[in-house]
Amino acid sequence: MADRTEMIAAADRIAVHPSFGALVDQLRAAAPVHLVDQDDAATAHAAHLVDAVGGSSKRTLVNVPAWLRAELLDALGVYARTLPGRACRHAPTSARPGPVVAATWRPGWVVCLDCAPILGDPWQVCSWCGADGVQVATVQAGVLLYQVPVCRACRPQVMADAG
Ligand SMILES: [Zn+2]
Ligand SMILES: [Zn+2]
Repeated sequence: MADRTEMIAAADRIAVHPSFGALVDQLRAAAPVHLVDQDDAATAHAAHLVDAVGGSSKRTLVNVPAWLRAELLDALGVYARTLPGRACRHAPTSARPGPVVAATWRPGWVVCLDCAPILGDPWQVCSWCGADGVQVATVQAGVLLYQVPVCRACRPQVMADAG
């Protein structure tokens, strides 16, 4: 298997490519209908959850900073089983779509909603600049709810709708 960093870089080039939307459409057209339906339902569920959490934001892979996109792609790669990683005992995977949770302070882990507590306590410092006085932001990308502690100064680059 290629080096993890190389795989993330390759995924990143695809994710920001102008044809990415068309590729997703083709993959959806080729995928079994029940999987597409389950994935849509899981994405809608994740979106609903992120709406219910204060200080959260729905993002696409294109409109987040590169450092965060690499982390989102890593978590999605673990979920899709294209990257090695760790999971809760329910072993969430894109073969059985459902909302999943990952966190910047637990790299390589992807767990189901019920098992989110096993990700442990968040960092008390900003994921990006290391400052303290952080709040955990929840970023939704498809089925993924990704938790990132960020300081007030870094918050706008993570949260599109941050005030
Ligand atoms: Zn679980
Ligand atoms: Zn910061």
